[in-house]
Amino acid sequence: MTDMQQVVPAAQETAGRFRAFGARHLEELLNRAGLSESERLAVRAVATVLPFRTNSYVLDELIDWSAIPDDPIYRLVFPQPDMLPHQDVERIGALISSDAPKSEIKAAAHEVRMRLNPHPAGQMVLNAPDLDGTKLPGLQHKYDETVLFFPKQGQTCHAYCTYCFRWAQFVDEPELKMATDHIDTLVAYLHQHPEITSVLITGGDPMIMNSTVLRRYIEPLLDPSLDHVESIRIGTKSLGYWPQRFVTDNDADDTLRLFEEVQEKGRSLALMAHYSHPNEMATPIAEQAIKRVRDSGAIIRTQAPLIRTVNDDAATWQQMWRKQVRLGMVPYYMFVERDTGPQEYFAVPLARAQEIFRDAYAHVGGLCRSVRGPSMSATPGKVCVDGVAEVAGEKVFVLRMLQARDPSLVGKPFFARYDEKAVWLTDLQPAFADRFPFEPATAELVA
Ligand SMILES: *Cc1c(COP(=O)(O)O)cnc(C)c1O
Ligand code: SF4
Repeated sequence: MTDMQQVVPAAQETAGRFRAFGARHLEELLNRAGLSESERLAVRAVATVLPFRTNSYVLDELIDWSAIPDDPIYRLVFPQPDMLPHQDVERIGALISSDAPKSEIKAAAHEVRMRLNPHPAGQMVLNAPDLDGTKLPGLQHKYDETVLFFPKQGQTCHAYCTYCFRWAQFVDEPELKMATDHIDTLVAYLHQHPEITSVLITGGDPMIMNSTVLRRYIEPLLDPSLDHVESIRIGTKSLGYWPQRFVTDNDADDTLRLFEEVQEKGRSLALMAHYSHPNEMATPIAEQAIKRVRDSGAIIRTQAPLIRTVNDDAATWQQMWRKQVRLGMVPYYMFVERDTGPQEYFAVPLARAQEIFRDAYAHVGGLCRSVRGPSMSATPGKVCVDGVAEVAGEKVFVLRMLQARDPSLVGKPFFARYDEKAVWLTDLQPAFADRFPFEPATAELVA
């Protein structure tokens, strides 16, 4: 995209590693993208509520500027004028154009955020573990075998996805954030919990941290006293948004060396790579990054949500899984867009999601079929929509828990009444029963 050289305004250096663009560059980017004045105002209004950030690589190499506004990567990182309720966008837009005081705009944005379910699936309350009675911020323990760790320096990303379910981590609302820099508390917690076999380092994007900081978090987990930790996973979109992280950044080699050390200590290092669209794997440096990570012995598993207007067709998923397998990665999850942020804008009905999944799945080889979904990460666990069937004369969804707070529910099929419009577990009604199998367990937990 040569004319992007002119589209990109003066950029900001982030730790000397990549050029980032934020809300203050938005007006100029949108102007050059050819948006009308009213569209630009609407996008800026949306960007006071939800975070905006992108970088030079996404702008120059991933977005096809001749295809705006339909280009999937453009839609993936740029807020859209109609992403939030019309009256909210209108109101904040009016405040911006009348040069209202910052505090007033901020208050209006805060009010809208509070209506967007910033912490879905009860994660702030239900998943918060404690150590001898002390709450541990920055840790989540929902499924017996896996603990989530949110390192403080990893709570930002190389670019922000418009649909991100962790958006609350990136806005200026401290009480909404989960993060810690106390690796000691994680180590102590792991000592008390021999059932935990996997530590999932997440964010944000932990790969935004340089190798020195990353090492500080990972090395303590390799202590022989924590031999029950079989795998360390890092949830990341860096392979898509900043593959330089593994190829040309100053600490690329040291990072890969750290991945090797994890294997040498007898653990598996898995990158849980977030890929939303095949275009994110299409550049030479993206392929090089994948190859270098694989050469370190780390495994790359891929996952993404199904997003309206970004990847909501079977051909896109088919192409994505096949390319992933060709490049030596392992397709892992297709998620359903979560019930937070601009869910109404991006949601694909469950019935349609299952159709897309099945159409793609039916036309790929067995190596692609390691993928599971469409899966909802909901309060009781990960619920997979296995299909639509007619049972005893009734049209139903066939559901199955892939993960559950209550492990005895994993893998047992159950049913919900077919509903063409349902987009989330909470929209569903049980079929052939008066409650879902997980309901009593959840009620007890909340009580
Ligand atoms: C998805 C998820 C995990 C990991 O589940 P796997 O099925 O092992 O990949 C762990 N904790 C939470 C809270 C999750 O949502
Ligand atoms: S990379 Fe992941 S955490 Fe970061 S903005 Fe995108 S979805 Fe959210």
